[in-house]
Amino acid sequence: MKPIKILHMYADMLDLYGDSGNMEILQYRCKMRDIPCEIDHYSRTSEVPDFSRYDLIYLGGGADLEQQILSTDLPRCSDGLKKAYADGVFFLMICGGYQLMGQYYRDADGHDLPGVGLFDYHTIAPNSRRKRCIGNIVVQTEITGEPLDIIGFENHGGQTSGVTSPFGRVRCGNGNCFQSDIEGYCEKNVIATYLHGPLLAKNPKLADYILEYCLRRHEDAPAFLAPLDDTLENECREVMLERLLKK
Ligand code: GLN
Repeated sequence: MKPIKILHMYADMLDLYGDSGNMEILQYRCKMRDIPCEIDHYSRTSEVPDFSRYDLIYLGGGADLEQQILSTDLPRCSDGLKKAYADGVFFLMICGGYQLMGQYYRDADGHDLPGVGLFDYHTIAPNSRRKRCIGNIVVQTEITGEPLDIIGFENHGGQTSGVTSPFGRVRCGNGNCFQSDIEGYCEKNVIATYLHGPLLAKNPKLADYILEYCLRRHEDAPAFLAPLDDTLENECREVMLERLLKK
């Protein structure tokens, strides 16, 4: 069977609150099902790869300083990333990575960092670094075809506007802006979200949605994913949902 191919971009610089754990979860859930999965890395010292060769492109979150540095590297990736998106490669982006794929991010000092421009939204941080959206968050998404509560942790100053298709509806927490109704951005092959956590450890059904999407691109892939024992994950979810929603 052909491996699922993942490109983890800037793992050395975008890795807040365990964001790299999302890659471990995908690897683990593949391994348990004997599905080969390969993860390549791209950083500022790498040659620009053919992004369309991948099934999934992943960016974690990072603080303003890292975003400032990366906004000078991203232009060389821009055409390749746009082509990969048009070719149906899945994009998963967390927080700082989410912001960098939009039009621009205006940081707390008022500097405009140009984004890749893959999507129409933009993000503006308040001038005070103390004004941030911080805490546990629950978002209800329908990306899998039925309502699914996604649990995570948000910590961002940036306020994102211009989102036409959000990832989900906020049930607890802030989302795209202070006290927003909506969170993230999504299309069938895109999830951009403020949820750290790591996201996929707390939301195994979302991890499987992404793996199923990747596998559907392979002719020799199994028709469905074998179920895994998520008893522990589901028990943790119950505790969190009880704590956060039933106040
Ligand atoms: N620097 C960005 C902000 O504060 C992103 C932070 C993050 O990735 N957690 O909005």
